[in-house]
Amino acid sequence: MEVFMEIKKAEHMGFCFGVKNAVDCATKALDEESKIYSYGEIIHNQDVVELLANKGLVVIEDLENSIDKIDAKVLIRSHGVSKKIIDTLHENNIEYIDATCTKVKNIHRIVNKYSSDGYEIIIVGDSSHPEVIGIIGWINGKYHTVNNFEEIKRLSIDREKKYCLVCQTTFNNNIFKEIVEFLNENDYTNIVVNNTICDATIKRQESCINIAANSDVMLVVGGKNSSNTKKLYELCKEKCEKTFLIENYREIPYKYIDKNTKIGITAGASTPDWVIEEVIQYVRESE
Ligand code: SF4
Repeated sequence: MEVFMEIKKAEHMGFCFGVKNAVDCATKALDEESKIYSYGEIIHNQDVVELLANKGLVVIEDLENSIDKIDAKVLIRSHGVSKKIIDTLHENNIEYIDATCTKVKNIHRIVNKYSSDGYEIIIVGDSSHPEVIGIIGWINGKYHTVNNFEEIKRLSIDREKKYCLVCQTTFNNNIFKEIVEFLNENDYTNIVVNNTICDATIKRQESCINIAANSDVMLVVGGKNSSNTKKLYELCKEKCEKTFLIENYREIPYKYIDKNTKIGITAGASTPDWVIEEVIQYVRESE
């Protein structure tokens, strides 16, 4: 009996609505204007970045120091920005398109409100990630960032003070649960916990775990500098030793694949469908 390669796709993968909205905003704006600026790359996918760059999207990394040179609208990507950046755009009469994801905006509102009410803010996430930098920029007062379970244990929490905890939208849901369990076990009733991990992230993380556990080779398609893609990779790697993070079909690890291989596929939130489909097509053609 002939055996054919089995390819299983994660039920939830690829573009989330926040990233899709940012790409749609950029595409629509570039249909009307010959140039727009994006504050940071709007998506961690080189193919899409190049496509938009060819239409006139110019990426600026340091808006405050380039403000005098801005001669077109600025697009704020789904990660969001600090209040200071928004104020700078207003002060300089620069038009902007705000594609901050609604889920990230919600975190801005939470930290702004609680910090104004005297709470210290705890952000669970990577302090160097643009989303977290943006969140910090809406806090009026003291804050702490923790990126793992050990760091929350080391944080000296004062039981006399009030805290509000939020989480980077793409944080690892399992680690977040451990952190919350630790806080509950230690009876930190002075901490208001907001689980702000995005459903899109949770669904992508949960569905990739099942697929990885039943695959010989797991392909995680996405940008190597994409936080949510890296987390999918880490989760899959725990379940499937031969997990590979690939940006597109050109990086398919053919030497681990033959017609008997069970292959699982998932993709980060910045991976467009056509990049995923190309990977599947090239894997099939290798049979
Ligand atoms: S992962 Fe969630 S929070 Fe982040 S951009 Fe996508 S929908 Fe928004």
